[in-house]
Amino acid sequence: MDNYYYTNRERLLKLKKQYYIKNREQILENLKNKNVNVLCKCGCMIKKCSLVKHKKSNKHINIMKSNQIVTKTIYIIKSKS
Ligand SMILES: [Zn+2]
Repeated sequence: MDNYYYTNRERLLKLKKQYYIKNREQILENLKNKNVNVLCKCGCMIKKCSLVKHKKSNKHINIMKSNQIVTKTIYIIKSKS
């Protein structure tokens, strides 16, 4: 693995640079664009700009709570057997 990286380092860096140059506009646009959808831990697709707000919402909190219960239940079932 290390060898592969080492021998292809130059080529990979070149490719990366080329990719950046080629997609520069798009990359910068993505960084600027906060309206991209992101997947929250609770499984909801939400706008990146409203992620902070969403994490404080009842919807998110409730899902995370029920997720914890599910995880705990699975753990109890597993530890019994
Ligand atoms: Zn969430």
